[in-house]
Amino acid sequence: MTATLSLDRPAERAHGVPLTVRLRLLSTGSGRPMPGYAVSLWHCEQPEVAWQTADPTGWVSFPSSFPDAGAGRWPHVHFEVFSAAGDRLHTAQLALPGDACATAFGRRHVSGHTLATDSCFTGGWALEIASVTGDAARGLVATRTVGV
Ligand SMILES: [Zn+2]
Repeated sequence: MTATLSLDRPAERAHGVPLTVRLRLLSTGSGRPMPGYAVSLWHCEQPEVAWQTADPTGWVSFPSSFPDAGAGRWPHVHFEVFSAAGDRLHTAQLALPGDACATAFGRRHVSGHTLATDSCFTGGWALEIASVTGDAARGLVATRTVGV
């Protein structure tokens, strides 16, 4: 992970590089998948909120695009988890790792904002960071397990 990689401008844009966000909901108590729980996901620069319900193995999968680095923030997406009864259980941000940002932004990174100085991740980002596979042409896939 290259979490100290910097972006050259605070408003760097990924220009629509596809990003699929895959989250797996697991119970923090039992470790079992949480099917039927709902997840809302959004980018702060876009008004739309997407919703999915976890499948029998606890997975949700959102077709999306790579988030921009804007307003002094490291590229991230927001999500919330709701119980089947509609109770909000978890609110978090998913940070994209530096090497994925370099792929999405075409490796234009020398100075500026870093994940280490992002005010929302000052408590550490190890639990907020996604695992990312893929490439800019075919699209990237960000995966993370979420304990609820
Ligand atoms: Zn945001």
